[in-house]
Amino acid sequence: MSITGRHLVQKFEAFAPTYLAEQGDPIGLAVGTLDRPISKIMVTLDVRPEVVQEAIENQVDFIFAHHPPIFRPLKNLSSDTPQNKMFHDLIKHDITVYAAHTNLDITENGMNDWLAEAVGIENTEIMTETQRVCYKKLAVMVPPENAAEVREALTAAGAGQIGTNYVKCSYTLEGTGRFTPVKGADPTIGEVGEEEQLTEVKVEVVVPNRLIDTVIQALVNTHPYEEPAFDVYTIENLHDNYGLGRVGNLIEPMPFKEFAQKVKNVFNVSSLRYITADENKLVERVAICGGDGGKFYSDALKKQADVYITGDVYYHVGHDMLADGLSVIDPGHHIEEICKTKLEELFTDWKSEENWDVEILSSALNTDPYQFL
Ligand SMILES: [Zn+2]
Repeated sequence: MSITGRHLVQKFEAFAPTYLAEQGDPIGLAVGTLDRPISKIMVTLDVRPEVVQEAIENQVDFIFAHHPPIFRPLKNLSSDTPQNKMFHDLIKHDITVYAAHTNLDITENGMNDWLAEAVGIENTEIMTETQRVCYKKLAVMVPPENAAEVREALTAAGAGQIGTNYVKCSYTLEGTGRFTPVKGADPTIGEVGEEEQLTEVKVEVVVPNRLIDTVIQALVNTHPYEEPAFDVYTIENLHDNYGLGRVGNLIEPMPFKEFAQKVKNVFNVSSLRYITADENKLVERVAICGGDGGKFYSDALKKQADVYITGDVYYHVGHDMLADGLSVIDPGHHIEEICKTKLEELFTDWKSEENWDVEILSSALNTDPYQFL
């Protein structure tokens, strides 16, 4: 089937929800519209003038980028600067640009998990928690014949998901409901002034806190009663933690220098920087954070990492890391290029699952601004 940008984005945002993004991160639609049909998607790490040219040459109509192209506000829309001219070119050629940044970094099986897998760590956990999704339990009393419809409405509104692999979870218990409608009531069952007693079921579902109002609205819209009886309570045992970076154990522990060489090969970089007091120290536990993760290094230490891999490490932070006994490997920010292959794979899977009539490709350009002598 032919699709619009919205089809792709809806599927993507179920995988990497926008609420996971860091505050102020300009993710999402950057140029164009999601409502036009698309036939060719190009995945890229960066949207640079040369990437836009590549898209035009390949008749791409949708660019899916990791780094938002308008990260800082533009001062003008003059086409006399190459950086701005690229926006003119995008608009002239009707190319939509959408960016998934920290929501892709943070989501489960996203950027940071791809990087962790690439360097060979297992039993990974989150390095820096950014968000904890807490849940409520909703219990609603409903006549048995209406229970299925109400359950359906609750789960369609987002209730009843436990973990990533179980949806439409609910529990039902049968009991006796009692009520007396008083003057002014318009009861679905029973008469004003008479006590009613009937069989009802209690349907229970979990609801993420952020969806509770939507789910209650769905309940009220579907429930047959004038005044549906329901309870909402806080549950303590269920929450989903999300965050940046991953920490885990090396499948094959090795001396630091050897591991640094491995990282260099895995990410295919021509050189990398490292910080260590002991090149021969055995590396067993590794933290990794895509992008510029120097500011989170204390979390790598707290999680007992022997080595922290991240990009853009700043000189004085490097001194602090060394003084704190943390070994660091900085292979640059460009290792996030891994997202091109991974997103292309993901979109190709969705294409065959959903029978999308669309072509998917990755930018063939290297957008690393640095070269090394
Ligand atoms: Zn980045």
